[in-house]
Amino acid sequence: MSLPTVKTTCPYCGVGCGIEATVEDPAAHRVTIKGDPDHPSNFGKLCSKGATLGDTVTLENRLLYPSVDGRRCDWDTALDHVAGRFRQIIAKHGPDAVAFYVSGQLLTEDYYVANKLMKGFIGSANIDTNSRLCMSSAVVGYKRAFGADTVPCSYADLELAELIVLVGSNAAWCHPIAFQRIRKAKDNNPNLKVVVVDPRRTASCDIADLHLPLKPGMDALLFNGLLCHLQRDGRIDKDYVANFTNGFAEALHQAETSAGSVAAVAAGCELDPADVGQFFAWFAGTERTVTVYSQGINQSSSGSDKCNAIINCHLASGRLGKPGMGPFSFTGQPNAMGGREVGGLANMLAAHMDLDNPAHVDRVGRFWHSERVADKPGLKAVEMFEAIGDGRVKAVWIMATNPVVSMPDADRVKQALQRCELVVVSDCIANTDTAQLAHVLLPATGWSEKDGTVTNLERRISRQRPLFAASGEARHDWWIISRVAQRMGFADAFAYQSSAEIFREHAALSAFENDSEHQLRDFDLSAFATIGQTEFDSLQPVQWPVTRERPQGSPQLFGDKQFFTADRKARFIPVAPQGPRNKVDADYPFTLNTGRLRDQWHTMTRTGLAAKLNAHRPEPFVEIHPADAERLQLKNRSLARIESRWGQMLARVEIGAGQRRGSLFVPMHWTGQVSSHGRMGALVNPVVDPYSGQPESKQTPVRISAW
Ligand code: SF4
Repeated sequence: MSLPTVKTTCPYCGVGCGIEATVEDPAAHRVTIKGDPDHPSNFGKLCSKGATLGDTVTLENRLLYPSVDGRRCDWDTALDHVAGRFRQIIAKHGPDAVAFYVSGQLLTEDYYVANKLMKGFIGSANIDTNSRLCMSSAVVGYKRAFGADTVPCSYADLELAELIVLVGSNAAWCHPIAFQRIRKAKDNNPNLKVVVVDPRRTASCDIADLHLPLKPGMDALLFNGLLCHLQRDGRIDKDYVANFTNGFAEALHQAETSAGSVAAVAAGCELDPADVGQFFAWFAGTERTVTVYSQGINQSSSGSDKCNAIINCHLASGRLGKPGMGPFSFTGQPNAMGGREVGGLANMLAAHMDLDNPAHVDRVGRFWHSERVADKPGLKAVEMFEAIGDGRVKAVWIMATNPVVSMPDADRVKQALQRCELVVVSDCIANTDTAQLAHVLLPATGWSEKDGTVTNLERRISRQRPLFAASGEARHDWWIISRVAQRMGFADAFAYQSSAEIFREHAALSAFENDSEHQLRDFDLSAFATIGQTEFDSLQPVQWPVTRERPQGSPQLFGDKQFFTADRKARFIPVAPQGPRNKVDADYPFTLNTGRLRDQWHTMTRTGLAAKLNAHRPEPFVEIHPADAERLQLKNRSLARIESRWGQMLARVEIGAGQRRGSLFVPMHWTGQVSSHGRMGALVNPVVDPYSGQPESKQTPVRISAW
């Protein structure tokens, strides 16, 4: 008898690989995992994390039952308690006294319902997501340039490009299957050049024709210099700039002020002028250029400007909307983009509409039949935990994320939650640093039990399908949120019975008054506005917009040179380059860089269950340049203390020439549960980009000493 095979999607990074899971023994949670050969994002390939998913679907450390104040209870008791306490606090202090902190791990349907409850019916925009820490600067960059949060490219563009520039992206470890596509494209096309712009020599440099190890934080200077070079070299696409964009002269003037010559750029970035000149010449001479950028750009106090400095160069050269070219943001999480679609960020409304646009607020209110839709932005992640700490926010519901480990200034986040009147945590994991501080624990279904959709970094919507029945008393996040909403008095709007029903409503909202009469919006799923259960069950991976005219989806956007601004033109943004907000000094002379490892995911609650993955790097470590280690008499494999003005951690010393002098690298994954002094979040400065609110997680001044 053949065993049932389920097509689903990997729950880790934003590449969004398709999986074929064969359930060997449902009772024992035994499953064989393979890449889905038919999924257009990975064509059967999986990286080490995806391939070992079968090792992580155990009941070890699963949260299985609801509890209130440490006592197990039934669902009715827990839901009544959460709804009752939220109502009390809102009645006494107003809707802005409560908050949701959600996650790019949630499915789109979960996200949609959480956002609808907070923004549509509680009437506050205090819902933010951990995706704030990963891609909110990219959102600002796209919105400023294109009038909408629209990623224009697809993975197929990587295979058609003749030049790929990876900026602040260690795709080899953080987006491994997308990187493998780049590697294969390079094998197949000897003319394809790869440039890596990163202070650290990472695994992504293995295929680089040129590595630019620039001074941390100086990316905008480099791309302003490139814009000046394109102008000097006569490589501006004058027709494109004149007819389809605004603001070129101002952006060029600002670039010339800061980065007028190759020598000035090289000096400011601390790079070899010949290397800078080579990069500029390749970019200027290669029409099919894709610039991939990721957390090294976004996680910065000027991340939004860095994104626009990159996009400016693509607009100036007209390299957008055609095969093999474009500015391509690589987001981190499996459903970071799904969260953006439904308005999971505190400054966005659902379906890519804006909180600061009264017409959008009115439209969403009419669609949801609610008169209390929030009409001003809520607290972004760092602000939200500050507000919890100072008592402005008195109740927080944290869904599927572990901010006590992952937030900057994590010790202060922990103290804030310790003081908070009501902390509700819904998660599939029992024993996280954050769950330990919860008054109410609500067991959610995990990957292998969830049922819904995710959107990957190339706008491709794929299904996550259940392999097993829910464990213990776990329930889907959308079910939990809906049942609380019903108890808060919003029964009609939250009477959902299935994820298909929620997806249908989400799609219908995207299509609601989405036409030239009301100003077109980019996010459009009108083809699914009446989708039924059977069609939802068999939904094939597809890239939005998916409209009645384009039911097969849209691999590439802006081929028609029409953008989502009022005049349908793209916008250049003048960028004045800035370094990190907090500078190194005599007390804290090193720049701390943080990031992912190849074989771990976030705070290791799942990947930590797979022995094979733990073997890669078993404990927290800090990478340091050999000359710095020698000067400080730090021996390889010894223990070191790293301190910033915000906190400290201990880590094993790894001496490596790939590290820039004056920089340290620490992985982000270890929790207080695994290593009591290994939380890197405790070190990270809580300064943020003024437009996106994204924290500067890549540049914190620190010092290091032997322990
Ligand atoms: Fe999963 Fe990302 Fe690896 Fe694909 S590349 S298998 S989505 S972790």
